[in-house]
Amino acid sequence: MSGVWSPEMSGSHLVSWSDLRTGDEFYRDVLNHLYDGVYFLDRDRRVIFWNRGAERITGFTATEVLGNRCMDNILMHVDEQGTNLCEGLCPVAATLADGQSRELEAYLHHKKGHRVPVLVRVSPILESDGVVSGVVQVFSDNSSKIAAVERINELERVAFLDALTEVGNRRYTEMNIRGKLDEVRRYGWVFGVLFVDIDHFKAINDKYGHDTGDEVLKMVARTMVGSLRPFDFLGRWGGEEFVALIVNVNEGTLRSVAERCRALVESSSLQPDEDVVRVTVSIGAVLARPDDTLETVVDRADELMYRSKKAGRNCVIVESGP
Ligand code: GH3
Ligand code: MG
Ligand code: MG
Repeated sequence: MSGVWSPEMSGSHLVSWSDLRTGDEFYRDVLNHLYDGVYFLDRDRRVIFWNRGAERITGFTATEVLGNRCMDNILMHVDEQGTNLCEGLCPVAATLADGQSRELEAYLHHKKGHRVPVLVRVSPILESDGVVSGVVQVFSDNSSKIAAVERINELERVAFLDALTEVGNRRYTEMNIRGKLDEVRRYGWVFGVLFVDIDHFKAINDKYGHDTGDEVLKMVARTMVGSLRPFDFLGRWGGEEFVALIVNVNEGTLRSVAERCRALVESSSLQPDEDVVRVTVSIGAVLARPDDTLETVVDRADELMYRSKKAGRNCVIVESGP
């Protein structure tokens, strides 16, 4: 914020954003990307900046608000008893008078008429000599809508993510494969399936304990996610088995993605104490076909994974095309 409100811009220079130096476009952009509402008022309590968050929370656009005074009662803040805060209780007026920051819960007037619960923070903008030249008000939507969205996100997390590794869980992986098989049939968008199994994982648990085993599972999942492309998908199939879905591929790219996963897992390591723990993976890779079902495509990849085990583990076998 200090970059926005440097002394040479405060006071009489607090007129409009067009007065700001071009470098401050950056700050304007930053403020516009904030989820919170932010607005600046000059000493006369005129609105001189109104960010997109403020537009989103209040329904009022910058054009409708800029130049208005806060007591023009656009937002008509009230407390929970419905008492109008602009008359005698205005936190902006108080901060302009005493230079102190304050925080309060209030209800503002949305353009569509309803009241929106907000948490409001008012801070003074000080000139270099300590004179208060305006205030910045930051407010966030305090409504249960946000809590509801958070609850939905949490439910999604529980429903779709594996709690230990935080990659997709079995159910989500199956849903994804079914969806992608539909795309193969409808549009011919071929995708690849990697079946990945950690080698001798039981021995890791036996030697280092279950907790270290869990850490190894997380390490492998993270390395795999980092080895895939952003639009690919990784899920935990169960135990020490993962399934990756590789979109927009041919046999060659499938092989190189699988080989990268194998090599990067091999070069990952964990150091729970003085020992260094490393694991390898065996991978079976197939391209989905239009007549595949969830079961057939996964079974073929699983079978090739077993062939990788028989071939000595730490190995990739890709199904050769028709
Ligand atoms: P292979 O190379 O043939 O795959 O041998 P493996 O030891 O990896 O295979 P096996 O199926 O014998 O053992 C898998 C082990 O994975 C056994 C099981 O206890 C362990 N495991 C499964 N889920 C978890 C988990 O969530 N945490 C930990 N720590 N271990 C798990
Ligand atoms: Mg296994
Ligand atoms: Mg295994």
